[in-house]
Amino acid sequence: MRFCFPSALLLATLPLCAQSDWNDPFPPHRIADNLYYVGSKGLSTYLITTSQGHILINSSFERTVPIIRANVEKLGFKFIDVKILLNSHAHGDHVEGNALVKELTGAKVYIMEGDEKVVESGGEGQYLYKGGWKPCKVDRVLKDGDTVTLGGVTLSAHLTPGHTRGCTTWTMKANDRGKSYDVVIVGSPNVNPGFQLVNNKVYPGIAADYARTFKVLKALHCDIFLGAHGAYYGMAEKAALLHKDSSRNPFVDPAGYRAYVEEREQAYLHTLKQQSR
Ligand SMILES: [Zn+2]
Repeated sequence: MRFCFPSALLLATLPLCAQSDWNDPFPPHRIADNLYYVGSKGLSTYLITTSQGHILINSSFERTVPIIRANVEKLGFKFIDVKILLNSHAHGDHVEGNALVKELTGAKVYIMEGDEKVVESGGEGQYLYKGGWKPCKVDRVLKDGDTVTLGGVTLSAHLTPGHTRGCTTWTMKANDRGKSYDVVIVGSPNVNPGFQLVNNKVYPGIAADYARTFKVLKALHCDIFLGAHGAYYGMAEKAALLHKDSSRNPFVDPAGYRAYVEEREQAYLHTLKQQSR
């Protein structure tokens, strides 16, 4: 993932610096039966459709919500049918639009323990980043291993902390052409520039939390590899393959998932080593 943070000092005062593709629309696409990509080019949002209404993962920024809504409608679904809103983690680029989505759809908002106060306060209390977004009522606080079920579809919430205290990796089963696949939507294993892994007085357990996250991610079985940003899994490249070769599903990528987790763990260990000197 690319970053554009100028310095650790500025991190405390600046909101997340917008990357060029975060506000760009991207064609919505089917990933598997009942599972669709409806995000912008750089910010992933997933729509899980069921007979009882839909689940949306990530509202992104407030300004991204119209892109998401248009994508949902382009696929032939109604935005108002979103019944449950979930998130990857409580950074503005994934949750700032929660209040607006709730307002537009009446969806219930479920947030992992550790991130719930950040969402309810509009971004206050988050490590390093300031909020300033619209506070959003949290209807259910999730714990590690909790499941979310709607219309016969079940998602499991895996606490993968470090990036935020309540960072969540979602898993579910999805069918494609009659075959069942394990889907993993990675919350974020990234140690952002300015993150202090050693002697962190604001987030004392941060390094141990990242270590836990890598243990969890390595233990998950993944066929369909997805994440909070398309850049984690090569979304744009894989989406382009959808039109070139209809005989295989480009999002089925277990080797890509393993390589990604391994590379991110090495990056974490490298930063930990540097900061431990
Ligand atoms: Zn983040």
